[in-house]
Formats: sequence, C-alpha cells, structure tokens
Amino acid sequence: MNLSESAKQAGFAAAYLLPVPQYEEWTRRRASGAFAPEANWIEGDPAAAWPWANGLLLLIWPYAPYAPDEGLSGYYPASNQSYHAMRSLQQTLKGRDVRAERAAVPVKSLLVEWGIGARLMSDLIFIPGLGTRFVIQGLMVALPEEELIFTPKGAPFDACIRCKRCQNACPGGAISPQGYDWRRCLRAYEDGPAMPDWVMERMTCLLGCEVCQDVCPLNHFIRPRPMTESERTAFDLKKLIAGDIQPALEIIGKNMKKGGKLTAQAAVLAANQHRTDLLPLLEVQAAHADGPLKDTLNWVISRLL
Ligand code: SF4
Ligand code: SF4
Repeated sequence: MNLSESAKQAGFAAAYLLPVPQYEEWTRRRASGAFAPEANWIEGDPAAAWPWANGLLLLIWPYAPYAPDEGLSGYYPASNQSYHAMRSLQQTLKGRDVRAERAAVPVKSLLVEWGIGARLMSDLIFIPGLGTRFVIQGLMVALPEEELIFTPKGAPFDACIRCKRCQNACPGGAISPQGYDWRRCLRAYEDGPAMPDWVMERMTCLLGCEVCQDVCPLNHFIRPRPMTESERTAFDLKKLIAGDIQPALEIIGKNMKKGGKLTAQAAVLAANQHRTDLLPLLEVQAAHADGPLKDTLNWVISRLL
C-alpha cells in the first residue's frame, strides 16, 4: 500500500508529500509580530529540527460544522479525530520502518505556496471541494527513495469573491480591506480562563468563533451536522460550569484542559445566552474558584444580575 492509500485508510481525505520546506520569509514575518502567539510553537528551521527527514506529509481531514445555534465549534472535535488518525498512520508507517514525527510547520502557508489552497480575505484557507472546513496535520517522514514522489507544485490561485460577508459579520472587526488582524480575532484570546471583556461580550460558541466560516459562500455547500446525544450531554453548559469536563475532553482531546478554559468559556456563553437559571451554580463556582477563572465567573455573574 502506498503512502496516499495508507493516509486514506487512516481516514484522511487527501495527502500531499512536499520536500522538507524552508520558510525564511514566514519566519521573518513571525518575528515582526505578524502572527498570533499560537504560531510560536512552529519550528523555524525544519532541516535542523528533523535532520533525518526527506519529506513533509500534509494530511487533510474535512469536517462538517455543527449548526450555528448549537454553540460549539466543530474544529476541535475534528482536530482530535484527525490527531488519532495521524497517530494510527504513524504506527502503520512504523510497521514499514518509515520514521514519521508530527511536524510543527506553517501548514496553511505551505498549502498556499504549493497551490493546493488559497488564502481568503478572512485569512482562512480554501481548498476546492472542501471549502475552509478541514483540519491539517503534518508529519515529517523518512521515506525510501522509490516512494519519494512529491506532489507537483501548482500555481497559486485566488478563490475569494470579495463579497465582504466575513468583514461585515466578524464580531471583532478583525477583517478589513487591509487584511486580517489577529489582534482583533476572538480566537486569539480563547486559550485560557482569562479573556478580555470585548472578547467575552462577543463570544457566540465554545472553542472558537465560527462566524466568518458560517457566512462565507465558499462554504455553503457543506451541510451542518446535528450534535449526537453524547456530544450534547458532554457540552451541556451546566455540566461544564460545574467542572464536569471529562466527557467533553474525550471528544476534543485532553490537552484542551488548560486551567479552567472550558468552564470559563461555558460560563461566558451562559452570560451571552442570558442563562439566568445558571446564576446559583455560577455563584457557588465563583466562591470556590481563584485566579483568572474567578475573575471570569464574576464578570459572568455581573452580566446576568
Ligand atoms: S474567527 Fe471570528 S473574530 Fe476571528 S476573524 Fe473570523 S469572525 Fe472574526
Ligand atoms: S465571506 Fe466573501 S470576502 Fe469573506 S472570505 Fe468568503 S468569499 Fe471572501
């Protein structure tokens, strides 16, 4: 079975094998503050970080979003599924004596550079047939020479129709004709229990912001999917505020635990959904919390009173 077939058997919709990338320009832009802090974990020099590798395998995992009124981003459940699929592919490759390690590389920029995807006005990456709804995983690999068949580099293309729906709908004002400003994007501030007031006031779902993807006509062929009963139970706001987060972590991955982040986001969403029925629980939790989580819970209570 070749590499592409192994990737498809693991559940990925597509796999692209690229040479070990170099991205000095991207690294320079990061140093000048062009990207949100989440870009900090990316390796600046792949050849030095993975000297044994002779290729980068980019793996694409499409997903359908939840309906907007479900209040949950579909990205992290899909990301967790794709992570486990990538681990399974790693095991398959290991069985063939092919070394493979997770790659911390700027996957979005590489998709654009290789002509696989196009960057939109919203800064999202569009892939024909998948819209912007997909997770990208990367593996550095050491393949035998005969399997080192790289994906042909395509010409960069444009896909954005400049309809400005994302610009008009973005709750943070992050999208403008001048480009995308991560400092005004809600997603850049949702990685812990402390969030600026302006972010909390505008939050419409757990684990991200889906607004620019929901309104983009390039995604309209992707039908939202209903939540399963177990997902609905796991992400019940009352449970999350009470600290019962294990079932949710089973779906989104245990590394999403981060010091009360889920509880804080559930509380903020409760405020924005005017869930005054949760006030007694919020008051109990605030009395027992400390640090940034306590501040967030107190902010939520003041909004509901
Ligand atoms: S994720 Fe939300 S805040 Fe960020 S650019 Fe899109 S609509 Fe704006
Ligand atoms: S909503 Fe319109 S302007 Fe925004 S990214 Fe999609 S196509 Fe481009």
